[in-house]
Amino acid sequence: MNQRNNRRLVLFPVPFQGHINPMLQLAQILHNRGFSITILHTDLNLSIHPRTPTSPFAPSAMASANRRCAAPFEERLREEVSSPDGRDAPVTCLIADALFRFTWDVAERAGVRRMVLRTGESRLEDPVPEFPPLQVKDLPGINTAEPELLDQLLHDMTEGIKDSSGVILNTFEDLEEISSRNFPIGPFHKCGPSSSGSLLAEDRSCISWLDEQAPNSVVYVSFGSIATVGESEFSEIALGLADSQQPFLWVVRPGSVGGSELLEKLPSCFLEALEERGKIVKWAPQQEVLAHRAVGAFWTHNGWNSTLESISEGVPMICMPCFSDQKVNARFVSDVWGVGVHLNNGLERRKIAEAIRKLLVEKEGEEVRERAAQFKEKANSCLRQGGSSFRSLDGLANHILSSES
Ligand code: UDP
Repeated sequence: MNQRNNRRLVLFPVPFQGHINPMLQLAQILHNRGFSITILHTDLNLSIHPRTPTSPFAPSAMASANRRCAAPFEERLREEVSSPDGRDAPVTCLIADALFRFTWDVAERAGVRRMVLRTGESRLEDPVPEFPPLQVKDLPGINTAEPELLDQLLHDMTEGIKDSSGVILNTFEDLEEISSRNFPIGPFHKCGPSSSGSLLAEDRSCISWLDEQAPNSVVYVSFGSIATVGESEFSEIALGLADSQQPFLWVVRPGSVGGSELLEKLPSCFLEALEERGKIVKWAPQQEVLAHRAVGAFWTHNGWNSTLESISEGVPMICMPCFSDQKVNARFVSDVWGVGVHLNNGLERRKIAEAIRKLLVEKEGEEVRERAAQFKEKANSCLRQGGSSFRSLDGLANHILSSES
């Protein structure tokens, strides 16, 4: 571990699971680099409760958080900065989630430099080769009843990024081109152990179940912490898993199925398959699952954390994006990096079973499996001494220290 450097960083995540995880991982990485860390958190987080399906990505929820958090956040930040008893190291920098717009004004007023963590990938301005002259940010993202609020949110985020002292990215150079003021130091979760930021209890019984399965035989199915599926999609997923003839581990998060989610209502061929070679849990220790030797494919919604976690373990993906950056992530997984197959909205049992068998057993999937294994090696080597993320982390630490005013 590096020596302490008597500098403190204040980190402030947006309280969604997919944003909390990378911020806590970043805290650990920077702590290992010698910085003291203070994490500020909102009173509420967006864990999902059974029977109260929420739509946490509703732009109005973020807009209201941006309005209501400013004053209490300013008060807390000022307390941290003044540290009247002088016990704590001085605050050198605020690292805030890019979605929290109000942090730029607050940081400026409190006299603290501000850096931004982009928890997703950052290709908003990349061209879309299939549709010139569109850029990624032009693609339809979230279906929302509040398109103006969404536009405002994305606009604020882009402006806030431009205005910051630098951008920290959970990615690595072999995946994408990075512009100069950015620090791609990922994959964060592979930088070392960090405490779990899980908002739901992890069901660890799936690990002992995986221990009993053959290597690379299991398809792991999870659509993250927010996405929901309709009742008919739910049953098509179940039938596809049954038809695949492969073992499966399926995360059915409470509240994630619109309508009834009673498993007993599913067709008997699925229930037999479940009994014989399946396991369902409410929430899994996902990183450990993906690193398990039994897991050979990941059917995912392509949230950025899930995508990167899968790439880091060399697990090929079946892509079923739902909203936001997931569609772009999925397209890169299937068409650019070639480490997965895209369902292209075709949620149909036969196609699902084909995709699963292609990635797990068929000769046809061999190239995808090989490329996934190569990316695993790249994700590991970028973190070793001299690797691109290792060097970028040096650059980030120097940037924070040298940017003190
Ligand atoms: N996750 C988990 N257990 C699960 C499902 C998901 O620990 O059963 C974690 C996953 O490892 C990832 C995060 O939840 O770090 C989900 O983030 P992502 O960006 O993939 O999707 P989001 O939830 O933001 O849509």
